[in-house]
Amino acid sequence: MAEIIPIPAFADNYIWFLRNGNVGAVVDPGDATPVIAFLERTGTSPCAILATHHHGDHVGGIPALLARWPVPVFGPAREKIPGRTQALTGGDRFDVPGLDATFDVIDVPGHTAGHIALFGEFGGMPVLFCGDTLFTGGCGRLFEGTPEQMWASLSALAALPPETRVYCGHEYTLANLRFALAVEPTSAELGARNVRDKAKRDKGEPTVPSTIALERATNPFLRAHLPEVRAAAAAHAGHALADDVASFAALREWKNTF
Ligand SMILES: [Zn+2]
Repeated sequence: MAEIIPIPAFADNYIWFLRNGNVGAVVDPGDATPVIAFLERTGTSPCAILATHHHGDHVGGIPALLARWPVPVFGPAREKIPGRTQALTGGDRFDVPGLDATFDVIDVPGHTAGHIALFGEFGGMPVLFCGDTLFTGGCGRLFEGTPEQMWASLSALAALPPETRVYCGHEYTLANLRFALAVEPTSAELGARNVRDKAKRDKGEPTVPSTIALERATNPFLRAHLPEVRAAAAAHAGHALADDVASFAALREWKNTF
């Protein structure tokens, strides 16, 4: 049976394990220790490692995993990924060896310059692994890219099928939704999501994955083109915002100090 399992790491990272029987692919293993503990506990072994971007909390565990399991490492061509054997760029399509899964690669610069997202089908469901680009209820900080790039990246992800499951790299949802509610305080759908996700966290459950449909309905960073969201961003910035990119950039700056 195919399933996608979160392996919590550090304070709020999720390393994802795409399990099929006794093997699986490990996505963004920032720390090897919890991955090895998981594999030993479940009697599974990795068949591949997938990386979305070069930050240490996403790739730091790769060398220790490779020392024990010398599996292929798929990662962005334009970033330094430890042990990478398969360099990926937008438009590529690849099969994960040992797993019944094919992924399309999408270039999503902004958080980092060479960040990629992986879109495919697993367990009969469209799934997206988007690292620190699209978060549930929010988006990543712009460390290496421009607002233009990030807005284009997020827009490409927003155009994926609405039922796509969104697997991001961190459990940031509640903090993101607090900000989203400041932007759109009267949104009933956002209010309902906040109640649901709070209940999940109270029970210690992950709020990830969400879906593209839910993100489009409630994530302000996918909604910067809408008049009501642009108006809120302009009110906070204290000046008019000329276009969608300016609206997105103002939202991102607002969130940085929220
Ligand atoms: Zn990152």
